[in-house]
Amino acid sequence: MEQSDGESLHPPQRWGKQRWFSHIPDEEWNDWRWQLRHRVTTLEELSRFVRVADKERRLMEAVLRDFRMGITPYYLSLIDFSDPKDPIMRQSVPRPEEYLYREVGEEDPLAEEELSPVPGLTHRYPDRVLMVVSNTCAVYCRHCTRKRIMVSKCEDPPADHDVDRMVDYIARTPTVRDVIVSGGDPLTFSTEKLERILSKVRAVPHVEVIRIGSRVPVTMPQRVDDELCAMLEKYHPVWLNVHFNHPRECTPEAVKACSRLLRAGIPLNNQSVLLAGVNDNVETMRELVHNLMRMRVRPYYLFQCDPVRGTEHLRTPVAKGIEIVGGLRGYTSGLGVPSYVIDAPGGGGKVPVSPDYLLYYSEKEGRAVLRNFHGKVIEYHDPLSAEALSRMTMSSLGKPAKSTCEESGKRRWSRRSRPRVPASAASGQS
Ligand code: SF4
Repeated sequence: MEQSDGESLHPPQRWGKQRWFSHIPDEEWNDWRWQLRHRVTTLEELSRFVRVADKERRLMEAVLRDFRMGITPYYLSLIDFSDPKDPIMRQSVPRPEEYLYREVGEEDPLAEEELSPVPGLTHRYPDRVLMVVSNTCAVYCRHCTRKRIMVSKCEDPPADHDVDRMVDYIARTPTVRDVIVSGGDPLTFSTEKLERILSKVRAVPHVEVIRIGSRVPVTMPQRVDDELCAMLEKYHPVWLNVHFNHPRECTPEAVKACSRLLRAGIPLNNQSVLLAGVNDNVETMRELVHNLMRMRVRPYYLFQCDPVRGTEHLRTPVAKGIEIVGGLRGYTSGLGVPSYVIDAPGGGGKVPVSPDYLLYYSEKEGRAVLRNFHGKVIEYHDPLSAEALSRMTMSSLGKPAKSTCEESGKRRWSRRSRPRVPASAASGQS
C-alpha cells in the first residue's frame, strides 16, 4: 500500500543510487544510522561525486568554516550532478556565494536569542515556545535560518540539564499551551533520547500540543521507523512540521515515511522556504503542493527566505512570493495554497502577505470591492443593519414604513451597478 502510493505519486528519479551506491546492501541503505554515519561532510568526499574547481574549492573551504556540510547518501542520490542548477544540489552543496556575500544578512535575523528567557528556548508568541534541542541535522540546508548554531564541527547533543531548564521555564509559564521541539533536527536523536525530552514536556499539565519540526522525512526518510512512530504516539497530541521544497523530494521513500507518521495519528504540515533557483516559479510550487496533498501533507507555510548571513544568493524579492501564491489561489484547491509569510526581522513574528484581493472596503458604507483570481472585480455587501431589517419587517407586515428601506434600496441599486472602486485602491492593481 505504502509502496504503491509512492510509486504512483512520483516516478523514482534517481541519478545517483545505482551509480554511486549500487554496492550498498538494502539492509544498510535502509538503516538510518548508516545514512547518518555516511553523510558527505567534506570537500574531499564531495569530489567523488562532482568536480570542484580549485578556485571554488578555496571559497567553499571558507564557507565550511562558517557552516557545516552534511548530505545523506539518500538525499545525495536525488542530485543530478550533471545539472549545475539541480535544485537538490542547490539546497545542500555549499556555494562560493555563501562566502562572497557573507557581509549581507544577519546571524539571527529573527532575534531568537534575544527572545530567549533560558538558553535554547524562544518565547515570542504568548501561548507557544520554541525549544531548540539539537544542533544536528541529517542534511545541512544552505538556506537554514539557524546556521549560527551549526558552526562548530561538533554536533553536540544538548546536556540533560539544558533541556531541564527549558522544561522548567515552560512549567513556570502557564500561558504556554503549545511547544515546538526543533533544532537542528530532533529526529536525528535516538528514539530513547527523543522520548526523554518529549516525556518531560508532556508531563507539564498545561502543555496541550507538542509540535516537532523535522526535515528528516525529506532528507533521511529511513529514520521514520515503527519504533519511532510507536514512541511518538504515546505523547499525543503530537504534530509534525515537515519541510519539502521541491517536487523531486516527494520520493516513494518520503511518501512511506509520511504515511507511517500519519498512521500514528500525527498530522503533517509542510513549511516550504521560497528559494531562488529551487522553487521560485508557479509550476514548481504547483507540482509540489499537488504532490503534498496526495501524500496527505498540508501545504501550511511558504516562507520568505530569512535574511541570514550566507543566504543572499538564495533569496527572492517579495513580489515573487506574491506571484506564486496568486498563481495557486483559484487554480488549485484552497487546501493546497500555503500561507505566504515573512518572518519579520527583529523578532516581529510571522506576517502573512498575499495578492490584493480586497480592493476597497468601507465599514460605514458596508461595501467591499473584491478581485477574484481571474482579475474580475466584484462588489460585496455587509449584512443590513438592525435598523434597516426592522424597517423591512414593518413594511412586510403592512405597517407604514414609508418604505424608506433606503439602505436595502441602495444596495439593490448598487448590485446592478458596476462596482465603484476608489481611485486610490484601483491604482495599485494590474
Ligand atoms: S533541517 Fe532545518 S534546522 Fe537543519 S539545516 Fe535544514 S533548515 Fe536548518
